[in-house]
Amino acid sequence: MRVLSFNARPYDREYLEQASVEHTHQLDYLDIRLNPQTAPLAAGYQAITAFVNDDLSADTLKVLASLGVQFIALRCAGFNQVDLSAAAEQQIKVARVPAYSPYAVAEHSMALILALNRHTHRAYQRVREQNFSLDGLLGFDLHGKTVGIVGTGKIGEIFAGILKGFGCRLLAYDPYPNPACEAMGVSYNSLEYLCRESDIISLHCPLTPETHHLIGNEAISWMKHGVMLINTSRGGLVDTAAVIEGLKSGKIGDLGLDVYEEEGGLFFQDMSQQIIQDDVFSRLQTFPNVLITGHQAYFTAEALQNIAATTLQNLTDFEQTGQSVNEVKA
Ligand code: NAD
Repeated sequence: MRVLSFNARPYDREYLEQASVEHTHQLDYLDIRLNPQTAPLAAGYQAITAFVNDDLSADTLKVLASLGVQFIALRCAGFNQVDLSAAAEQQIKVARVPAYSPYAVAEHSMALILALNRHTHRAYQRVREQNFSLDGLLGFDLHGKTVGIVGTGKIGEIFAGILKGFGCRLLAYDPYPNPACEAMGVSYNSLEYLCRESDIISLHCPLTPETHHLIGNEAISWMKHGVMLINTSRGGLVDTAAVIEGLKSGKIGDLGLDVYEEEGGLFFQDMSQQIIQDDVFSRLQTFPNVLITGHQAYFTAEALQNIAATTLQNLTDFEQTGQSVNEVKA
């Protein structure tokens, strides 16, 4: 099958090429994002692959369908960027990579917690400037602290195991409690209880209409003064304006983000020579107790291998049977 990969960075190509030896597709790559304007480049392809920040809105899907594209293989787990109803209308099937490395994201969440708590990112700069003062670098023992996990699926479960190793008390909020977490001693409660009790809150649930701005003014009002908030899931889970107010008042003591509501125009590219037009993002960058990474939590060699292998298998399954076990529907 002729397959065009949009938004394919050199590392994506490398792993897709490696995985493709087990398949017979003809793969082409573009290092540009998919949107209604770039979609015509898929002329002549039966399938495309796309990533989290590609625009898979109804307008894009309409163009793709008019060109004969029948299948979209997402190179990611989340699919909130796809208008699935429009895809069904256009008779385009969509599949994702449901799991590639829960360890990658859980471990990155832990990296944000440790860096924020012990100010490693600031200490690195200081020591390079031969400033060995410890003022402002005070942290706290994680042992004995209460950590609230919002969403205990594949990533939340691994994250819980890591924190258990640190000797933390674990609370969770999830409409579908995970027996493996319960066996680990994780206690399920309401979001309000979790917010009131937790020293650290980490988000691991998907972005859906129900979870949009799950962390807004009300949830923040329930939190302990000085709480650490970590979001490696999806930017839209957090109302950024409310979080900025929380940071200004000291209610939020530390903020670790790998995702941002409006990351579409920023992340995955070198913007170092440009003027950032997003004032909310720029305000976030001014706080010394905010640590932002650019959607890199998934970015490990193991995850890229698994993403490529599942993406290629999804394409082969669709070519051979017209469907894929990893299909997502509206
Ligand atoms: P998963 O489907 O295994 O688990 C999600 C959990 O969230 C489930 O247990 C579900 O019951 C729970 N949930 C659903 N609605 C909820 C709600 N309203 N409140 C609380 N919990 C709710 O997914 P996963 O593999 O663990 O991934 C979690 C999220 O991590 C993904 O949706 C994705 O957005 C994000 N993610 C981020 C990166 C990254 O690089 N930053 C990479 C992969 C995944």
